[in-house]
Formats: sequence, structure tokens, C-alpha cells
Amino acid sequence: MRRVTTLTPPWVGELIGALGPDSVLTDPDVTAAYARDQAMLAEAGMPAAVVLPRSTAEVSAVMQVASRHGVPVVPRGAGSGLVGAANAVDGCITLVTTRMDAVLEVAPADRLAVVQPGVVNKTLRDAVRAHGLFYPPDPASYDWCTLGGNLAVNSGGLCCVKYGVTTDYVLGLEVVLADGRVLRTGRRTVKGVAGYDLARLFVGSEGTLGVITEATVALRPAPAAPVTLVASFPTSAQTGQVVESVVTSGLVPSMLEVMDRTCIRAVDDVMKADLDRDAAALVLAQSDSGGAAATAEIALLTRLCEEAGADFVHSTDDPAEGDLLMAARRMALPALERLGSVLLDDVAVPRSQVATFIDGCVAVAADAGLVIGVVGHAGDGNMHPTVVFDAADADQRTRAFAAFDAILELGLSLGGTVTGEHGVGTLKADWLEREIGPVSLSVHQAIKQALDPGGLLNPGKMFRRAHVGDLAAVGGLSAQS
Ligand SMILES: Cc1cc2nc3c(=O)[nH]c(=O)nc-3n(C[C@H](O)[C@H](O)[C@H](O)COP(=O)(O)OP(=O)(O)OC[C@H]3O[C@@H](n4cnc5c(N)ncnc54)[C@H](O)[C@@H]3O)c2cc1C
Repeated sequence: MRRVTTLTPPWVGELIGALGPDSVLTDPDVTAAYARDQAMLAEAGMPAAVVLPRSTAEVSAVMQVASRHGVPVVPRGAGSGLVGAANAVDGCITLVTTRMDAVLEVAPADRLAVVQPGVVNKTLRDAVRAHGLFYPPDPASYDWCTLGGNLAVNSGGLCCVKYGVTTDYVLGLEVVLADGRVLRTGRRTVKGVAGYDLARLFVGSEGTLGVITEATVALRPAPAAPVTLVASFPTSAQTGQVVESVVTSGLVPSMLEVMDRTCIRAVDDVMKADLDRDAAALVLAQSDSGGAAATAEIALLTRLCEEAGADFVHSTDDPAEGDLLMAARRMALPALERLGSVLLDDVAVPRSQVATFIDGCVAVAADAGLVIGVVGHAGDGNMHPTVVFDAADADQRTRAFAAFDAILELGLSLGGTVTGEHGVGTLKADWLEREIGPVSLSVHQAIKQALDPGGLLNPGKMFRRAHVGDLAAVGGLSAQS
């Protein structure tokens, strides 16, 4: 029998009564593991309890306990996020969905799947592939991040340049609201326009509006095995020229990624993959159009790379070689993390601005006197300049945060956004209003107020806590929020 210490909040007993003792964790040594996501420098508190519900009814019970007692709730999937969006606040309930991990249905005749939120992205991809189908959104963390997290952040990935992002595949959602009511919204049909598009309202809401407990997602026919191209360039900005010429040529590759020399060398140090360590940048591209169409697309891509100044271009339809190149791309962030602490930007710019943006990042690195590795989904303009530094060195830390901000500023000045796919979280909460403006911010706040008047869901994410004060002016929040 579990021992509840005198420090345990009184509502923990109610959670144990509703979920059972195995689903409610309060040992600080255990709950600490759920305090933060992968954004190591984002602020985080300590949860008072971590709950692992198995069903929608149990999620609803948690929200009812939380709203009765005014306890904040932080929804959490795998904790692979990069902006502190799943970070605990002191005294909260962290609600982890990983036990709700069933693919409930794959319906080939309707080209859709129904999943619980804790399903890992790769698990869904594998499950639908058995039916000749394809679930496209593919964050580089696809083998451990969950669909709930993907939906809550509106994740992108490597194949977005051709297939779009998570929201493009959402048909319907089941969401437990702040007061425990269960909302079902959306549809199973190809078309459907009845009422507001509430399903998409919850996509990208970072756990601030409700807990997603089920999703109906659209699927596509499985594409052909990809043909992969790699090209190296004497300057990193030339890769931006490739992006521009790809767009203007009308070509739509299924992937168009870029890595600069810092990333190439970091990856090669880890993988010993015989990458071209002297290249200033590599472009990795794929066509999954199959047969003659893929051959023609890769031939055009080869020409465009050469015209942009590539000094080496190679393509392969060997799946093993293609997988190795893809693994190298996916290794970029973990490899940079071996060099020091990292601050990872996630700026998306209009594709015509990619070259200017890369040049700007080089200038920011020189100003800061720090290494900035540039890697990203160049084909859709979503770049991840990554500031590498020694977090124990106060001066470097200050310069690193200044460089991180300078890159956000640069992105906005080019008509871009401060986040293309990772979300706002705590790391960029100061930047939301700068990007969307006061009118849009007040609309956001009104929606938050309508759905979560107690301010219980994921406080401090997206909006600064100071902005919660503004919320009170909109409609009145409880003091504890
Ligand atoms: C090496 C690496 C590579 C990555 N590459 C990419 C990439 O290419 N593209 C990309 O977009 N991201 C990428 N990410 C970031 C991250 O994997 C994604 O944001 C992912 O969608 C997070 O899923 P998760 O299950 O880990 O969610 P978490 O990190 O646990 O949570 C993320 C957010 O979702 C909310 N949330 C989680 N579940 C629910 C739910 N059921 N209901 C409501 N809210 C919920 C949380 O409160 C939080 O706000 C990468 C991360 C790593 C570590």
C-alpha cells in the first residue's frame, strides 16, 4: 500500500481514488524526471504529482480534481519538446499520456486512423504502412515523440516541404476540457464545415486549452521508395539559392534539408559516416514520386544544385545509402549537443529569404564570438540555427541568449516567424506578442479565458505569467493561476 506523506497535498488522495495508486506518482526522485522537456535552459518547476491515466474517463477525473482544488495541470507526452512547453510549474499535476498508446482504428476505405494521444509517431507510421498507407508528419524525433505532443505543438518534420504539417492531417479530436467535460469535435468525412473548426483550434495550443485524448487523422497512399540526393557547397548561403530555384522551377521534392560545416563535422564525429568534412554546407533532398518521375525530379535537382555552385552532387536509389544519409541529418541536433550546451532556434522565413537568413546567422555568430550550427528544413524555410556554448561560463551564456534573440529578430525582420514547428513554450513566451501583435494576443487571451477560466492548463506557456494578469482584466482569473 502506498504511503502518503504529510507533505502530500490533500487532493492526491482523490487522484489515487480515481486512478489507482500505480497511476499517481509523488516521490520527488521519480517526479523530477517529469519536470522538464529537452529544452534544458527553459525554466521549470517541480510537479507535486505525476499522473499516468489509461483512459479518457481517467483524464476527465484528473481535470475534475484539479479544477475543484485549483491545481495547475501540465499535459505531457514523451517530453521530447524543445521549448519548455511540457515543463512543470511548482506544485502542478503533470498529466502524462504515454499509457494511452493504442492505435484504435486504421480505416483504409476512409483513409484515416484513430489514435490515442500517447501513440508514438513511428508506431502510427508503421501501423498504417501495413495497409499501404502513409501518415506524413515526421519530426526528426519520430521514433519517440507522441501524437498528442505532435498535435499540441503542430509539429512539422522533414517531409513537410511536400506534405505539410500535423494540422493538415487532423480530421477530428476528443479533448478533455479544463473542467473535465469531454468535447468531441471534427469529423471522419473528407469534407465538413459545420461550425467553427474547433479541432484545429486545439492543434498548436500547447496544452493550454485542453487535454487531447483521441485524434482522427487523415492518411495518404504510401509513396514510392525515395531516391536521395546529396550535394556539397563551398558557401552555406548557396544552399538558399537552391531553395529559391527549386521553388521557382515548380519542383516539389519530398525532402530538402541543409546542414552547415559545423553540423557536418559534429555528425561525422559521432557516426564516422565519411561525410565531406570540408564542405561549407550539404543539401540533402529526396524524391518519392517513383519511376520516371523521380528520375526526372532528381535530374532537375542535380542541375539546380550545380547551377547554384555545388562542387559535388551524388544521388542514390539504394535504400541503405539513403537511410544512412537521413540518419546523418537526424543526428545533427544530438551531435551538436555533444559540443556544449545548445540554444536551438526554430525560425521559419519566406523561402525567398533563406539565403539572406543563413548569411545573417553567420554574422550573428561572428558578433557573438560563438559557434552557431545551421541545420534545417530549408525546403519550407524552417531553419534551426543552434547556438553552442559553455553554460557554466556566465559571459558565454549571456552572449548565447543574445545570439538566440538576434536570430529571432532577424527572422521577424525577413517576414518570418519565431517558431516554424517547435512552439512557443516558455522559451519564446516573450516573443509571441511581438510577432502576432496586441489585437491577436487579446483574441488568444479571450479564447483561453473562455476554455480555461481558472488558468489551470499549462500556465506560463505561450503567454508570460504577466499576461495572465491581462487575462484577469478580460474576464477574471482565480488568484492561484
Ligand atoms: C532530436 C529532436 C529532434 C526533433 N525534431 C523535430 C522536428 O523535426 N520537427 C518538430 O516539429 N519537432 C521536432 N522536435 C521537437 C519535439 O519532438 C516535438 O515538438 C514533438 O511533437 C513533441 O512531442 P512529445 O510527445 O515529446 O510532447 P511533449 O514534449 O511531452 O509536449 C509538447 C507539448 O504538447 C503538450 N501536450 C502533450 N501531449 C498533449 C495532449 N495529449 N494534450 C494536450 N497537450 C499535450 C505539452 O503540454 C507541451 O505543450 C525534435 C526534438 C528532438 C529532441
